[in-house]
Amino acid sequence: MADGNKDSKRRFGRRGRGRSGAREGERTAEAAGSEESVDERKSVLADQPAVVCSICDKQIFDLSSALAGRDGKGPIHFDCALAQAAVGENLEPAERVAYVGRGAFAVVEYRDKSMTAFTIKRRIQWEKEGEKFDWRKSIQQRFGL
Ligand SMILES: [Zn+2]
Repeated sequence: MADGNKDSKRRFGRRGRGRSGAREGERTAEAAGSEESVDERKSVLADQPAVVCSICDKQIFDLSSALAGRDGKGPIHFDCALAQAAVGENLEPAERVAYVGRGAFAVVEYRDKSMTAFTIKRRIQWEKEGEKFDWRKSIQQRFGL
């Protein structure tokens, strides 16, 4: 009820029909929402033997995001790989380890607090580039990739 009283009455009607200060940025909410159905993926994998991460010994449910171990064995959880990649990197406060694709992590330094702009300080190659892993191959076949 107390809504809509923000606009003080306009006396001078020069732009009488103009929108009064429509807020920008109201339309940005739409782009975000493409949700994948995780359940669907699981059912595809249901007849697969359980795959266990060699770092934390827990089952890997989402093989499509798993990485090979650094020694070429695998697969391991993405998060486990990420944690291991950071080991021994002596990160500065503004530095993080991030996945940069193609089986590689990198130490990145964020240049502002919003964490949008960053510089890659050094690459941490994780999986051997171009290596094909059997466990990944079978998953790709199942998804028809
Ligand atoms: Zn793990």
